[in-house]
Amino acid sequence: MSAGAQPCGARRARWQETPPLVVARMPCARPAGHGGPHEDALGQEWTELPQDLVDAVAVTCAVYQVREAFAAEDEGAAR
Ligand SMILES: [Zn+2]
Repeated sequence: MSAGAQPCGARRARWQETPPLVVARMPCARPAGHGGPHEDALGQEWTELPQDLVDAVAVTCAVYQVREAFAAEDEGAAR
């Protein structure tokens, strides 16, 4: 057995998984410590986003949905 370069092995965040899940859960096959995006054995790439950015987008989406819900309620009350 030869000791080749260790693979990165990183996996997508749960929110980045897409059907089929078997493919979306494949680990990164590039060498450990690589630069740029991760890439699985099928050649599909993904990038890890900063957690602060993911959280900020989630809050923005939640705020939008709450505003939409109250706007719909206001429209219903005006009739
Ligand atoms: Zn990787």
